[in-house]
Amino acid sequence: MFRIGIGHDTHRLVTARPLVLGGAVIPFERGSDGHSDGDALTHAITDAILGALCEADLGVHFPDTDPQWKDANSMQLLGRVVWLAHERGFEIANVDCNVMLERPKLREHIDAMRENLAKALNVEIGCVSIKAKTGEGLEAVGRGEAVTAQAVVLLRQS
Ligand SMILES: [Zn+2]
Repeated sequence: MFRIGIGHDTHRLVTARPLVLGGAVIPFERGSDGHSDGDALTHAITDAILGALCEADLGVHFPDTDPQWKDANSMQLLGRVVWLAHERGFEIANVDCNVMLERPKLREHIDAMRENLAKALNVEIGCVSIKAKTGEGLEAVGRGEAVTAQAVVLLRQS
């Protein structure tokens, strides 16, 4: 009846890359390194859905050795995994996420991210929670070297 999944993702922050989180482009002097658009939040949610389906992970479905996924739009990858869940007879019940980023402050972007994700997940915006945290100056996130995201997703039989 129900399936639960967990996702986690980290990207290094580098210059000359956009900072994309939950499909929103956040104005900042650095962005996520990575093969795709580096959207750590969307990757964590995608992995959580795959986990709930016992379907391995993002790297298995969209290998970064495949040029097809170079600079891929992560929201499209999420859409494919949501479609896979629907194929298996599941719909998204709700998603809860943490984004760990030292700078910039994400508060003013959270609702745009929730809206983008709700659309991709085919749920109401009230089913998508995103909490923004800092690293309190500690470790890679705290030093501003990385962005990390965590997600828990609940699927229910549709
Ligand atoms: Zn990623």
